[in-house]
Amino acid sequence: MKYDLVIVGAGPGGYVCALRAAQLGLKVAVVEKEKAGGTCLNVGCIPSKALLDSTEIFSEIKENNEHGIETKEAIMNWGTLQKRREGIVNNLTSGVEFLLKKAKIDYFEGCAQVKSRHTVVVGRSNLATKNVVLATGSKPIEIPFLPFDGQKIIDSTQALSQEKIPKDMIVVGGGYIGLEMASVYNRIGTKVTVIEMMDTIVPLMDPDISKQLKKSLKKQGIKFKTSTKVTGCKKTKKNIILNLEKNNKKDKQTAEQVLVAVGRTPNRGGINLEALGVKTNERGFVVIDEKMETSQEGIYAIGDLVPGPMLAHKASEEGVVVAERIAGKHTTFNYELIPSVVYTHPEGASIGRNANELKKAGLEFKTGMFPFSASGRAMAIGCTEGFVKVLADKKTDEILGVHILGPKASELIGEAAMAMGFCGTAEDVGIFIHAHPTLSEALKEASLEASGHGAIHT
Ligand SMILES: Cc1cc2nc3c(=O)[nH]c(=O)nc-3n(C[C@H](O)[C@H](O)[C@H](O)COP(=O)(O)OP(=O)(O)OC[C@H]3O[C@@H](n4cnc5c(N)ncnc54)[C@H](O)[C@@H]3O)c2cc1C
Repeated sequence: MKYDLVIVGAGPGGYVCALRAAQLGLKVAVVEKEKAGGTCLNVGCIPSKALLDSTEIFSEIKENNEHGIETKEAIMNWGTLQKRREGIVNNLTSGVEFLLKKAKIDYFEGCAQVKSRHTVVVGRSNLATKNVVLATGSKPIEIPFLPFDGQKIIDSTQALSQEKIPKDMIVVGGGYIGLEMASVYNRIGTKVTVIEMMDTIVPLMDPDISKQLKKSLKKQGIKFKTSTKVTGCKKTKKNIILNLEKNNKKDKQTAEQVLVAVGRTPNRGGINLEALGVKTNERGFVVIDEKMETSQEGIYAIGDLVPGPMLAHKASEEGVVVAERIAGKHTTFNYELIPSVVYTHPEGASIGRNANELKKAGLEFKTGMFPFSASGRAMAIGCTEGFVKVLADKKTDEILGVHILGPKASELIGEAAMAMGFCGTAEDVGIFIHAHPTLSEALKEASLEASGHGAIHT
C-alpha cells in the first residue's frame, strides 16, 4: 500500500488529522475538491470573525463616544472590509497548503470517490491505502419552501461576501451563525429581524446567557420574534414576504433579503456510504466508535460528518484522535469538554453542562455568579454587560460547567476548559492568583462564590 491513510476533505478535521499523522511518521494523502481549510477557513469561522471584528470597531467608533475619540463621521467602506476578509482567508488557506507540503503530505485536488477501505479514486489517480478518513464536513440546511437563490434568499456563505448591503434582512434561525451574521448586518445599518422557532435564542446555551444576550442584542437594534415558525413565503419584485405563525396566530414579515441559518447537515460529498456499508444515524450523521472508526473497519469519520457539536475545534481534535489511533496510541476524546462560543457583543461562551442539564441528570450542584459590572477591567474596556457563572458539584466541589457572557468570553473559557480537564474544583480556580486588572478575575470571583468561600468584590 502506498499510504497509511487517505483523508477526504481538507477542513479543520481533515488537515489537522493529516498533519498529526505525518508527525507520527505515517504516509498520508489528502483529497480536497474545493479549497484547503474547508468551511472553517473559507466560509465559516474565520471570515465571519473578520467581519464581526471590523464591524465591532465601526460601531464602537460610531456609538460609544465615552472614550473621547472624536471623528468627523465614521463611514463603512464595505468593499475594503470585504478585501480584508478575503486577504485573511487567503493567508490562512495558503498557510495550510504550505504546512501540508512541509510535512510531505500528498495533496490531490479533486472530488474523491471512496471505492473501499483500500482504494480512493481522484480523477485518474487510484490511491492505494491501508485506511480512509472521511472528513467531508457539512452544508447549510435548505428549507424546501425557501430555496436559496443567492439574491433574496441566501445562506451564510453568501451573507459573508455579498456586494450590496440590504436595507432590511430577516434572519431565520437564532443559533450562533444566525446571531453573528445578524450582528454584522445590524452594525452596518441593515434593519435586522431574527425569527426563531424555539422560545429562546442560542437554545443550546445556558438559559441566563440566552436571556441576557437577547436583551443586549435588542438594545443594539436587532428585533426578535421567538416561538415563531416560518410557514411560507412570497417574493415580490423588490422584497420577500414571509408567512409566520406564533401560537396559532398568523403574521407576516417583509424584507429585502432573508438569510436562512437553521443549521447544517452532514455532507456526504458524493460518497456512497451505503455502498461502502458505512452506517449513518436517523439524521444522516456517520456513526462512529471511540476510535472514530465507522461500522467498516479501516474507514474512519470525523468533524461535522459525525454526531456532536458542529465546531472546528471538535473536528480538529477528532482528527488528532484518528491519527494517533492509527499510529497505535490509545487517545480518547472527552465530548463533555468542548467549549462553544457565540461571537456577538457581548460574547457568550460555555463549557460542560448548564443548570437545566444538571437538573435533568439529577445532579446536585452549587452556583457561583459574578457580574462584569463589578469588574474594574470590564469598566476600563467599556463593556460591563454579562457575568461568569460557575456550576460545581454540591459535595465534591468539582466544576461541572462554566457559562460566560461578557467581553472576551471566548478567551476566558480556555481557563475553565483547562480547570475542568484536570477535574479541578471551584476552590482550585478561586484560590489561584489572577493578574489585576483582568477579566479573568471574574472567573476567580465566581469560582470563590461557587466554592462557598464567597466572592470578594460583591
Ligand atoms: C458562518 C459559519 C461560522 C462558523 N463559525 C465557527 C466558529 O466560530 N467556531 C467553530 O468552531 N466553528 C464554526 N463554524 C463551524 C465550522 O466551520 C465547522 O464545524 C468545521 O469547518 C467542520 O470541519 P470539517 O473538517 O468537519 O468540515 P469542513 O470544514 O466542512 O471541510 C470539509 C471539506 O471536505 C471537502 N470535501 C467534501 N466532499 C469531498 C470529496 N468527495 N472529495 C474531496 N473533498 C471533499 C469540502 O470541500 C470541504 O473543504 C462556522 C461555520 C459557519 C458556516
